[in-house]
Amino acid sequence: MSAAEIGVLRVDLAAIAHNWRALADHVAPAECGAVVKADAYGLGIARVLPALSAAGCRTFFVATPREAAEARALHSTARVFVLNGLFPGAADTILAAGAIPCLASLAEIEEWSAHARRIGARLASAIHVDSGLHRLGLPAGEVARLAARPEWLEPLDVVLIMSHLASADDPNDPASAAQQQTFERLREMLPAAPASLAASDGLMLGQPYHFDLVRPGYALYGGQASGGARAPVVPVVSLYARVLQVREVGTRGQVGYSGAWSASRPSRIATIAAGYADGFARTASATTDRRGGSVLIHGSLLPIVGRVSMDLITVDVTDCPILVTRGDIAELIGPALPLETVGAEAGTIGYEVLTRLGRRFERVYAGDGA
Ligand SMILES: *Cc1c(COP(=O)(O)O)cnc(C)c1O
Repeated sequence: MSAAEIGVLRVDLAAIAHNWRALADHVAPAECGAVVKADAYGLGIARVLPALSAAGCRTFFVATPREAAEARALHSTARVFVLNGLFPGAADTILAAGAIPCLASLAEIEEWSAHARRIGARLASAIHVDSGLHRLGLPAGEVARLAARPEWLEPLDVVLIMSHLASADDPNDPASAAQQQTFERLREMLPAAPASLAASDGLMLGQPYHFDLVRPGYALYGGQASGGARAPVVPVVSLYARVLQVREVGTRGQVGYSGAWSASRPSRIATIAAGYADGFARTASATTDRRGGSVLIHGSLLPIVGRVSMDLITVDVTDCPILVTRGDIAELIGPALPLETVGAEAGTIGYEVLTRLGRRFERVYAGDGA
């Protein structure tokens, strides 16, 4: 961390490439794509997509048309699917980007077909069917209507039939097997095309969930999405911030806004340069009777005390065997503080921690061979 920096987000691109290869091996002979929506889960699509592509990834998923344009600008021959499909007015951006919408209703199929006829070309398309998540996708009734009218798909080149699992993070939840069977059934009603059902958690449920293509996001970025088997991935993200000041407070000394935490003994409190404006959740605050998040300083896990504020957090460093002083570096995410732990301590999930990490941290990319 350079002297002028108070916070650094380190992204290990070699670890992302390793994770993609490990997942690709795990699901072979199925293909492994990569979900790079939300700026590659906040890590920076401009660096992440080229690293994945160098590792061998050819198929990418984004959420929005604008993200698709960004992805195709980075890799003009990649297959880019737009998970949010075709909302009214989105077609021109998707067409210009050369991306493939995941069509989620008969209305979307009709609209995309009209564009295909206008252009006089069969347009690459994915059909998103709803196997039970009830979020996006054609419900069974619409799939049946579509099956009865094959000419509706004539203007389109259906390259993928997909669906998404609701509860794949819990390997004991019977909903996944039910969705898998519903997906098989809906898929058989449609023209033959490659299929995709699983994200990071679903691909750990085993081969019946892999179909032709899997769509991990979180696992590529080092996350453990499944509550069952551990994905064969390594951590990608570390986050460090500076200790700005260390102070002594006496017994009953209050720390931070509203005096939400007060000391039960004479304490040393370190103030660290990261806050909710940096995406460090305010729900990681600790009061006198409720634990919050933690940070790692000199190898010791130490508790946050008081409220997380916009730019600062306060940490009780009394029990750190090595004296904590101004300028020391605290680890906020890293091997000892995985995304899942940081999320749980803030009452949320690692996904939200990752995608909210702020723009104020200096971003350092390691391991891209450049
Ligand atoms: C976000 C998303 C994914 C990737 O999910 P992860 O849990 O991050 O692997 C896959 N498919 C769909 C439809 C999604 O919305």
